[in-house]
Amino acid sequence: MTKGNFWPDDIQGAVSLTFDDGAITQLDNAVPCLDDHRLKGTFYVNPGRKQDWTDLVPRWQEVSRNGHEIGNHTTRHPCSCNFKFSREGYCLENLTLADIAETIDDATEALDALFPEQNGNRTFCYPCYQTYVGEGEGRETYVPLVAKRFKTARGWGERPNFPEVVDLSYAWSWAVEGNTAEELIAYIEGASKKGQWAIICMHGVGGQHLSIDNNAFQGLVKHLDENRHRIQTDTMINIAEYILSKRSGEQRN
Ligand SMILES: [Zn+2]
Repeated sequence: MTKGNFWPDDIQGAVSLTFDDGAITQLDNAVPCLDDHRLKGTFYVNPGRKQDWTDLVPRWQEVSRNGHEIGNHTTRHPCSCNFKFSREGYCLENLTLADIAETIDDATEALDALFPEQNGNRTFCYPCYQTYVGEGEGRETYVPLVAKRFKTARGWGERPNFPEVVDLSYAWSWAVEGNTAEELIAYIEGASKKGQWAIICMHGVGGQHLSIDNNAFQGLVKHLDENRHRIQTDTMINIAEYILSKRSGEQRN
């Protein structure tokens, strides 16, 4: 495979903008900005987890109908017991693979019912970027269980992804809370020069937890719009499907 020609036409690299935990500031601030610039994002939600979920469903349905991806982030968001917020013992060191499968499949069932236009075609995001159940000698990875169910899943990592080789069952992302537009643009430009897929991970936008401020977000989105002829910004599912089809085409040649 020749380096640099992985993407279509004049595209140098790809970007996915991803948002975790169904935060309302994503609906209030991120979605309108993306829509103004005709760009699509991936929103990883937890059906039923928080009290305001039911109230927000109609707004998420509108987002989905507009072509954004609504992704699976489990129903119960299990993370390490070492986090203070892992209450009531439902945390990774105490769970089994069957427990993880249940919270993932419950989310899939809820999302299938609420977002029928997706036809079940969505990606996964590891809560707290963590991929295991159990502890010590009994610790096991749940990545294979995710890989069986999803074309790609987003974790956390130190670099953008090389599309030729990235393990799609744990694609790396950069969590950008507190960064400026200039820093974000430098990151995606550096990735594009190498032909990479840069995945940006966000939580609150212009408020709420781990937030990026509105100016930084808007500056990034404006840059992605102005450079759309050479940087492809799309959902996780669309980029993953392109990567898979490109890889299978290369194998046939
Ligand atoms: Zn989360």
